Amino acid sequence: MTEEKPRPRLRPTLESPAEAPAREPEMPKIVLPYLLDFLPREKDGETRLARFFARLREGRLSTTRCTKDDLLLWPPRTVCPRCHTEELVWVDLPETGTIYAFSAVLAGAPLGMEGSVPYAVGLVDLDGAPLRLFGRIEGRPWNELAIGQSIEVEPYEVPDGRVFYRFRVGGGPSATGP
Ligand SMILES: [Zn+2]
Repeated sequence: MTEEKPRPRLRPTLESPAEAPAREPEMPKIVLPYLLDFLPREKDGETRLARFFARLREGRLSTTRCTKDDLLLWPPRTVCPRCHTEELVWVDLPETGTIYAFSAVLAGAPLGMEGSVPYAVGLVDLDGAPLRLFGRIEGRPWNELAIGQSIEVEPYEVPDGRVFYRFRVGGGPSATGP
């Protein structure tokens, strides 16, 4: 994992009306109603974690680490939940891991994901980092997955222009699958 210098403090999100510069409201290009949207807002101004998504767009899965008590945080934070410092650094995470547990979505998929059914989701232990991440698992049909299988972290572009990560089981499509 590589470290970077601490991120400069961001402006407070809320500005008093007197200080707030006049600007055109920017309409987000979101198709889904906000409360039904399973993916987070990503842009600077929408989240203080925009850097996570910018790095993901570069192919880097990363998170924050507290410099005070050397705590690796997931998901990335702007404040350490243990000591409440904002002195966090961004660190890259391993790109490989193993499946800890998984399940399949066979029905009742969230809005916008109906076309992907059936699909697998699961918990993945990253290699060399004490983190267990949740996400979608691709690369094989759900009924060919197994606990302990190796995965690679795969950043991908969401059709609406956002970016997110998922896991891909190695070995490509199974030759014995249906
Ligand atoms: Zn801390």
